[in-house]
Amino acid sequence: MTKTAWLSLDQAKAIKEKIPTPFHIYNESMIRQNARQLYQAFSWNKGFKEYFAVKATPNPQILKILQEEGCGVDCSSLSELIMSDRVGFKGHDIMFSSNATPAEDFRKAFELGAIINFDDISHIPFFLEHVSPELPEEISFRYNPGGIYEVSNGIMDNPGEAKYGMTHDHIMKAARLVREKGVKRLGLHAFLVSNAIGNDYYPELARTLFDLAVEVKKESGLEISFINLSGGIGVNYKPDQEAVDIHKVGEGVQKVYEEVLVPAGMGEVRICTELGRFLLAPAGALISQVLHLKNTYKTYVGLDACAANLMRPAIYGAYHHITVLGKENLKSDHTYDVTGGLCENNDKFAIDRKLPEIDKGDIIYIHDTGAHGFAMGYNYNGKLRSAEVLLQEDGGFRMIRRAETVEDYFRTLEGFWPEA
Ligand SMILES: *Cc1c(COP(=O)(O)O)cnc(C)c1O
Repeated sequence: MTKTAWLSLDQAKAIKEKIPTPFHIYNESMIRQNARQLYQAFSWNKGFKEYFAVKATPNPQILKILQEEGCGVDCSSLSELIMSDRVGFKGHDIMFSSNATPAEDFRKAFELGAIINFDDISHIPFFLEHVSPELPEEISFRYNPGGIYEVSNGIMDNPGEAKYGMTHDHIMKAARLVREKGVKRLGLHAFLVSNAIGNDYYPELARTLFDLAVEVKKESGLEISFINLSGGIGVNYKPDQEAVDIHKVGEGVQKVYEEVLVPAGMGEVRICTELGRFLLAPAGALISQVLHLKNTYKTYVGLDACAANLMRPAIYGAYHHITVLGKENLKSDHTYDVTGGLCENNDKFAIDRKLPEIDKGDIIYIHDTGAHGFAMGYNYNGKLRSAEVLLQEDGGFRMIRRAETVEDYFRTLEGFWPEA
C-alpha cells in the first residue's frame, strides 16, 4: 500500500508564496468527511455525539468546522474551555475530561454548564468545597480497570500504570455519594488504549463500560445516561497499515450494546466519543522546505521545520510518512535521515528513510500531522511555532493562525526589554 499526499507541489508553491514554510495545513473536506463517517457509523444510536478532543488541534476555525458537523468538544484545561466557549459551544456540548484539575478549571467548566467527567473520587469533595455545594444533575466518571488491557488483535496498554480514572470500588462508592448530592444522571468514560489500530478496541471497551454501567445502575439506582468511549482510535501512520474501518467499529459497538445494555433495559443510553487523532490526523500535514543536504557518516536532509513543530517522532519515535512533493513517481532509492535544526540529536523526522533523491529547495510533505502535531509545539532553542493553513472545500486556502514572531516569543519576559 502507498500513502499519497493530498496537496500537490503546485498548490504548496502557491501557498508558500503567501505563507512561508514551515506550516501545518488542514484539509477541510477531509475533516468533514471523517466526521460524517463517524456519525454514520453510530447512526444506530439515538443521541450519539462526538466531542472532539480540543487538545489534538486547538484552532477555533477547525473547531467551528466540527461544530457544523454536529460535534461537541472535549476539553481538559481552562484555555481549552475558554476557546470552546468563544467558538460557541454551549453547556452539554462541552465535555470536561481533565485530571489533576485546578479549582479554577472546574469552576469554569461548571459555569459553562459543561458535563464534568470526574477523574477521581477525591475530586468530588474538592469540587463541593471549591466550586459548588451541589453537583450538576448530570456528571460523568472516568473508569480505570487496572491491570493490562488486551484487545483480541494483540494491542494492549497498561491501565494499571496510568494516572487516569477511578478503580471499580471507587466508581461504586462515588456513585452512591453523588446520588446524595443531587446527581440524577451519570455517564461512564474510559480511555484505555491510544492509537488503536484495528476495529476491535471500541467494541471491547464498550463491553467493559456496558458491564460496569449495568452494575452501577443496579447498585446505586442512578440512571446511566451515556457511555463515553473517549479517544484512542488510531490511524495508519505507516504505509503497510490498514486504516480503521469506522463502520465496522460502529457495528461492533452496536452488537455489544444489543447484547448487554438492551436486555438490561438500558436501550436509551447514548454513546459518546472524544476522538482527536481519528478525525484530524490524516487531514493535516506539515509542509517544510529542504535547506541543506549534508554528507558525513550518513546523509542528512536539513529542513526548515523541526521537532518544535512536530514532536511525535522525537518523543515517541513515532513514524510519520514523508512525500517529496513533485517526486511522487520517482523511485525511493536513496536513504536519508530527515532532520530539523534543534540542538538535540533526536530532532529527526525520519531515520534511514528510503526516499527519492532529494535536492535543496525540495518541498517535503510530512503526513498525518493534523492531530497532536502543531498542538504539541514548543519553543525550545527559541524556535517559533509555525502558521496553520486551511485548505478550503472550494480548493482555496486561508491562514487560520499566523506564525509566531520573535516579539511573541519575548512577550512574557519581565524587566529587561520593557518595549521593543
Ligand atoms: C487525548 C484525549 C482524547 C483524544 O485522543 P486521540 O488519541 O486523539 O483520539 C480523548 N479524550 C481524552 C480525555 C484525552 O485526553
